[in-house]
Amino acid sequence: MDTMACPDCDLLQQLPALPPGGKVRCCRCGHVLAVGSSDPFDRPLALTIAAAIAFIVAHTTPLMGLSAVGRHASTTIGQGAYEMWVQGERITATIVAFCAVLAPGGYILFMLTVLLAVRRPPAPRWVGEMLRGAHAMRPWSMNEVMLLGILVALIKIAELATVEPGVGMYAVGALVILFAAIAATVDPHAIWARVAWAREADPSPRDSHGRQAGR
Ligand SMILES: [Zn+2]
Repeated sequence: MDTMACPDCDLLQQLPALPPGGKVRCCRCGHVLAVGSSDPFDRPLALTIAAAIAFIVAHTTPLMGLSAVGRHASTTIGQGAYEMWVQGERITATIVAFCAVLAPGGYILFMLTVLLAVRRPPAPRWVGEMLRGAHAMRPWSMNEVMLLGILVALIKIAELATVEPGVGMYAVGALVILFAAIAATVDPHAIWARVAWAREADPSPRDSHGRQAGR
């Protein structure tokens, strides 16, 4: 049995073993503390592998191609950020590189390592640090913002030149959906339950993000 602090009201309570699809609510405020997933590791792992493939495709194939007066040009996300850097837009280039390349790449890498490592319990203690890293990266990986930006640019440029959406753009669209699906299927509580030090080295209770209760 696990002890957990409610994220809303901080009440410490024991979580019973959950059947697949079962839910535990806080007995004081009703916040859902844990949901019993029928498949807490394999489904998010499959989605994360799909996201890794979509990420590689999104960054190696052209986002869009432009043709105007007989000339043709196409660019990838990385080339776009590099061009901005060269033209002096260094802050924008850094933000694009971080939110479109480093953060989503880091999130996929962390999640992939965590989900592979927890397949055989007990998971080593560094898995906890990786899971924290993934949580820190998620808000910064702004695939949906990037997709919106690309669409706005497409509509604006379409007046001046012929624009063909590239494979990369469909891959970014797939990434938006996959990231949401990973967040919906991954169960941090099940992962923490398999991390060795959460129970053995440190007996104090932790919440679903691994923070110690009562701090
Ligand atoms: Zn509560």
